[in-house]
Amino acid sequence: MRKTTVLISGASIAGPALAYWLQHYGFAVTVVERAPELRPGGQAIDFKGATQRTVLERMGIWDEIQRRQTGKTDMVITDAQGRELAEISGDFTGGDVEILRGDLAAILYERTAADCEYLFGDSVTALRETGTGVEVEFENAPARTFDLVVGCDGIHSRVRALTFGPEADYVKHMGYYYCTAGAAGWGHDPEAPAQRNRSAAYNEPGRLAVRGGNKAAHLYMFAADRLEYDRRDEASQRRVLAQAFAGAGGPVPAMMSELGDLDSFYLDSLGMVRMKGGYSRGRVALVGDSAYGNTMGGFGTGLAVVGAYVLAGELALAGGDHAAAFARYDEMMKRYAKIAGQSNAGRFLAPRTARGMRMRNWFLGSWLFDLMLKYSDNAANDVDLKDYQALVAAA
Ligand SMILES: Cc1cc2nc3c(=O)[nH]c(=O)nc-3n(C[C@H](O)[C@H](O)[C@H](O)COP(=O)(O)OP(=O)(O)OC[C@H]3O[C@@H](n4cnc5c(N)ncnc54)[C@H](O)[C@@H]3O)c2cc1C
Repeated sequence: MRKTTVLISGASIAGPALAYWLQHYGFAVTVVERAPELRPGGQAIDFKGATQRTVLERMGIWDEIQRRQTGKTDMVITDAQGRELAEISGDFTGGDVEILRGDLAAILYERTAADCEYLFGDSVTALRETGTGVEVEFENAPARTFDLVVGCDGIHSRVRALTFGPEADYVKHMGYYYCTAGAAGWGHDPEAPAQRNRSAAYNEPGRLAVRGGNKAAHLYMFAADRLEYDRRDEASQRRVLAQAFAGAGGPVPAMMSELGDLDSFYLDSLGMVRMKGGYSRGRVALVGDSAYGNTMGGFGTGLAVVGAYVLAGELALAGGDHAAAFARYDEMMKRYAKIAGQSNAGRFLAPRTARGMRMRNWFLGSWLFDLMLKYSDNAANDVDLKDYQALVAAA
């Protein structure tokens, strides 16, 4: 019997996780990734709650994630003289287990590379749905037809734009930009045992500058309406950052002079994706940040692996009826994606007023913060997952 062919756009977390499950269920999978090779490094990401752990255990990667975990980072907030004002615990930002995004992508890639086709350095340029499939054009590879296409290409998804319409219709600008530079995960060495790190954070109204770890690494956040700059041009992004932090005090001038020597520079807006009519249209679906992303919202990676698990499981159970599978995926993920909520990491990390900064610091030391931690733990557990492997085996 001919295998159902699926094109996945994006090889970070959602893409390889979906590829893992689809090849497991007998689909023929192709993954196209714009970067010339698997992107290493990146920030630390985390998993939280029993639902996410269950999926990772069913994928057989929970133990390896434990082995390669970072050990989390406590963020100490200081004043301009370096005096400690408050602390954001690494247990809050690091969930139950924290790992570098690049390490997780590598774990997923290793488990799929032999059985899935990967096209690096390429991108989808056109999608045309016919009655029986989706005709796909690429920047480099010759055009091909697939039965299904899934966009796992992040918050600025090309597949979403080609299928649903312009980004501005689906991604809400949260009023902030962030920037990371230097050693990923605050210098965590994946070969070394997990070690608790500390970073030093300095706030001015609407601005945050963090320096930390045992190797040079910076994180910045600043409040701004939509800015015009070239997202592919690092020099123009560096200018945007320099302008945003012009005149800032504390450690910022020293950090700005270090910044020239830090590579892996990345600047982007904080965005929240809201797909009003569901995560699929015709033969095209979205998984991960392209569908329910909330930059630094704290649940992106967990949502991506759970979404991949559910979509592949529903497709396997549906026996070729992709419309029925997509509808069940939509329904399930609409409920689960609510854990990402409306949280705005920018407002929390870089309050716009001095009063807002004082209140945030007070909140971090209060019982209310403990309550919030508990609530978000419950939310992360708040979903029943089908045991798709058992259901498919029994079908
Ligand atoms: C600074 C920062 C901190 C974060 N912290 C956390 C955290 O603490 N906890 C947490 O759970 N999550 C965190 N996240 C979010 C997390 O990284 C993502 O939610 C998660 O990785 C979802 O992955 P994804 O595969 O959907 O998208 P992404 O990781 O964005 O990957 C998209 C992939 O698609 C590729 N791509 C893009 N366009 C195209 C194209 N046109 N053609 C082909 N390929 C394309 C990209 O190169 C990339 O490989 C953070 C994110 C950032 C930026």
